Amino acid sequence: TQDQKESMFLVSKFASEWMESQLKTEMGKAIGYSYFKERGFTDETIKHFQLGYSPDQWSAFTDAAIKSGYQLEFLEKTGLTIVKGEKQFDRFKGRVMFPIRSLSGRVLGFGGRILTNDKKAAKYLNSPQSDIYDKSKVLYGIYEAKQSIAKEDLCYLVEGYTDVIQLHQAGVKNVVSSSGTALTKEQIRLIQRLTKNITVLYDGDAAGMRAAIRGIDLILEAGMNVRICTFPEGEDPDSFAKAHTQSEIEEFLTANAVDFISFKSNLLKDEAAGDPIKKAEMIRDIVQSIAKVPDDISREIYVRESAAILDIGEDVLFSSLAQNRNAGI
Ligand code: ATP
Ligand code: MN
Ligand code: MN
Ligand code: MN
Repeated sequence: TQDQKESMFLVSKFASEWMESQLKTEMGKAIGYSYFKERGFTDETIKHFQLGYSPDQWSAFTDAAIKSGYQLEFLEKTGLTIVKGEKQFDRFKGRVMFPIRSLSGRVLGFGGRILTNDKKAAKYLNSPQSDIYDKSKVLYGIYEAKQSIAKEDLCYLVEGYTDVIQLHQAGVKNVVSSSGTALTKEQIRLIQRLTKNITVLYDGDAAGMRAAIRGIDLILEAGMNVRICTFPEGEDPDSFAKAHTQSEIEEFLTANAVDFISFKSNLLKDEAAGDPIKKAEMIRDIVQSIAKVPDDISREIYVRESAAILDIGEDVLFSSLAQNRNAGI
């Protein structure tokens, strides 16, 4: 019910504020705050994103919440507390905290990161699905980015929390993250309220590349324009932004963002060079993406561009496109 949701919002707000305050305790300062400092986040950034720390004790947060009058029922419903029989545990114990906010700024859920690079533990832990948190419908950073997205008429899409924060701190503020989950239609729709233009900035590794490829068709289907900027191997937007100035970052993004046709043809160019079968596969792949574009005129423009880039007749592409659209839609 609405009342229940309201109670979950209130508990989440309390959690965010309490965990933020933990950065100032002796322990939180030595552990959580210094972690953020090591990552290069300024005090202003930490405050702006309401970053926090959940102490490494079984139920420090839960105890504080109950003492402040919040009911266990809602602590459990939001996933902040795990209840096992008579015992209660803090889900995020010992993690630095990234509150995930709605477009209007309400805390919906959290991402929590372990402080080590211990490969055994999950690096990030997120709030479970609940009546107020649906990971397929939120975008990390949307609240902080919405004005810049509208103003720049462009949204950068990254993989992780720290990518959003580091770019924002460097002055590139029109950036949001799908936080490790595959991009969804709902997330795209959220961006679409602010702009028609998305540039995907995924990590320079195989996983990032796969995620970028998957995202392209969804963005095209929504009738939006998509560009892709690839980072050097082993870099992500966080590491890149940390090592460069705002103007260097902006230059890099401008110089390296290409449309999906160039992106896909570059990706497969080397493989396809001496191999007609590979080349045919690549062309079909690109045509399949173009077939997703709802607008007739845009499709025609993409076909002409592909014909030039791929060095193939427009008429062949048009007929292949017609087949795809008849088959698919
Ligand atoms: P960091 O820079 O803090 O090491 P990252 O953001 O670069 O992390 P990636 O490994 O590139 O992390 O993953 C991208 C995103 O995927 C993360 O920001 C997080 O949202 C999500 N993610 C990563 N690892 C996990 C995990 N083990 N469980 C759940 N989500 C994860
Ligand atoms: Mn990665
Ligand atoms: Mn990364
Ligand atoms: Mn990273």
